[in-house]
Amino acid sequence: MEPYLSDLRPSIAAIIAARRAQLGVRLSSAALIICIFQLQTGLSWALAWGVTYFTVQLVEYFVFRKVDETRAMARSAERVFFALTMANSAAFTSFGLLLAASGSWGVMCAGILWSGTIAHVTINSGGSRQTLQCALLPPVLAFFALPGFILRDGGNLTDCITAVAAGLFSGFGTVAMWNVYQKLLKSATRAREFGRQAQFDSETGLPNRAALNQRTDELASTASGVVVVAAIGIDRFSHLRGAIGHAPMVELIAQLAERLSSAFNGIPVMRLSSGHLGLAFVARDMAEAFHLAATLQGAVTRPLQLRDTHVDVSVTIGLSEAADALQHAADLAILDRALIAVEQAREARRHIASFDAKLYGNPGATLSLMSEMSRAFDNGQMTIAYQPKYDLRSGAIVGAEALARWDHPERGALRPDLFVEMAEETGHIGELTEWVLRRAVRDQHRLRAAGFNLSIAVNWSGHLLDDVGFTDTALEIARGAAGKLCLEVTETAIIGNAGLARQTLERLRAAGLTISIDDYGSGLSSMAYLKNIPADELKIDKAFVLNMATDPVDAVLVRAAVSLAHSLGLQVVAEGVEQQAALDLLGEMGCDLAQGYLIARPIPLQDLVAYLGDRATDPASAAV
Ligand code: C2E
Ligand code: CA
Ligand code: CA
Repeated sequence: MEPYLSDLRPSIAAIIAARRAQLGVRLSSAALIICIFQLQTGLSWALAWGVTYFTVQLVEYFVFRKVDETRAMARSAERVFFALTMANSAAFTSFGLLLAASGSWGVMCAGILWSGTIAHVTINSGGSRQTLQCALLPPVLAFFALPGFILRDGGNLTDCITAVAAGLFSGFGTVAMWNVYQKLLKSATRAREFGRQAQFDSETGLPNRAALNQRTDELASTASGVVVVAAIGIDRFSHLRGAIGHAPMVELIAQLAERLSSAFNGIPVMRLSSGHLGLAFVARDMAEAFHLAATLQGAVTRPLQLRDTHVDVSVTIGLSEAADALQHAADLAILDRALIAVEQAREARRHIASFDAKLYGNPGATLSLMSEMSRAFDNGQMTIAYQPKYDLRSGAIVGAEALARWDHPERGALRPDLFVEMAEETGHIGELTEWVLRRAVRDQHRLRAAGFNLSIAVNWSGHLLDDVGFTDTALEIARGAAGKLCLEVTETAIIGNAGLARQTLERLRAAGLTISIDDYGSGLSSMAYLKNIPADELKIDKAFVLNMATDPVDAVLVRAAVSLAHSLGLQVVAEGVEQQAALDLLGEMGCDLAQGYLIARPIPLQDLVAYLGDRATDPASAAV
């Protein structure tokens, strides 16, 4: 027993040593194979994925069309896909099991094979968690059978642990790869989506402003000649959209873009805003650019076919020169210049115009001017000139119109219609009117103190008619007046604003203010609205009065206005009386009041006091 045992011990020890040595080799070769395999699968799939991605990008770039979107699979298609994944994985698992049954090395190969299968399937699955589960399930189940094979094959517990560890390692590697792949996929999809949004209009799928800017830059750096951007404004856009509906309008725009593009050798047409398309092209000079723009316009003379109907569309084109815009890069981009040119063309009632910097003026200066206005009230730059209103029957001055005057230290005397319009557009008109009204009330007291009782008229912007708060303030100020106050409101302001304007005017009248309809006849309004306006006075626009003594048509119109106003119970004022003959004619027509250079120009308060004083003391000077 003893010698037998002593023989056996070294041989067992040798076997154990050999086994241990074998284990090291097995472990290291298993790890090596797994690493190489994971690396190889990972790299090859990453490569395949990258190539596909860039191919798609290239195709999109050259075809210049919409980028595809990853669409969710339909439910049934999804089920078939999962079943296929499961079957695929199960087939490989079975094959792996077969290999495993043939020995310990077979077990290693099976593990590697399975993990490869899983990697393949998951990467192909597009990052679906369910697909990963379908692919993982068969090999995970198969792993439970592994220890049995190993032990049967003469392996021991260490072998079992080695095999299971290799499988787990492989599994974790697969899951890690899946995660990396998912992140790549997501960020790539997001990047593509961002890229798409940045370059394309979401409604029509047409390239957008950014794309046009890019194209302009490309042309500017490569082409010889004048690089021009054309903004194509769809005329009466809102009206048309209201008439045909939003969705058909989008269709119409896409069709229009196609029409314009094909008229221009397939140049891409972009969408710049809801009602504007645009494109960039190269011309020899601006004359040729106008000629090419006319071709574009010609392309829409034929109506567009929308579903079953023909739709007539006309466009106005604004051109802007890239080189010109670059010189003034700080103030306006080339694209904005083209868009402004569309407006300039429309205002000039033309079909095509190039950007006119002089016409556009200097909005930066406008803004700074408005910020200066508040200071102008206090530092004496802003003053008021009063223009007398003459009573044709009594020959007396019965009122005066307060007209704002701004003597700017750098820009000289600013035209009131200019800064009044700016104030209206920038929301400063309330400030200006309040200042004028306070001054008018103060000056009326001064006139009163000098012995003159005049009705003072203040020009009232239409923008103020729907400002209830402002009306409250104005009424508060008017309460302190020393005599009659009159508000001159243009007819267009009242008509454009019928509901609230009426209420405001009624409130003002109820408080004792006189309402005068200014610039009567200058708008294109119908006479019918007159009966609905709560007013006391009608002021005939100077355009009809200036030449009424020589132009019989003007005279007829003034006569008609006088009789219309009287029959509506309104007092009539004629402004712009420059000639004695006109004044005489107005007297004969029965006009009540006259205002104009013949009587007096707008003058400062002290001059007005002097003027009124002269008239009172010297009856000869009172005769106009
Ligand atoms: P408006 O209310 O029609 O004022 C009459 C304009 O005609 C004044 O020009 C006046 O100087 C001018 N005018 C008066 N008589 C004659 C004449 O016999 N011949 C000619 N050719 N012109 C005459 P102004 O002062 O340049 O004012 C222009 C416009 O600016 C005014 O037109 C008014 O709409 C606006 N405006 C002036 N001051 C104010 C103000 O304080 N507030 C508001 N909202 N608008 C004002
Ligand atoms: Ca006026
Ligand atoms: Ca007027």
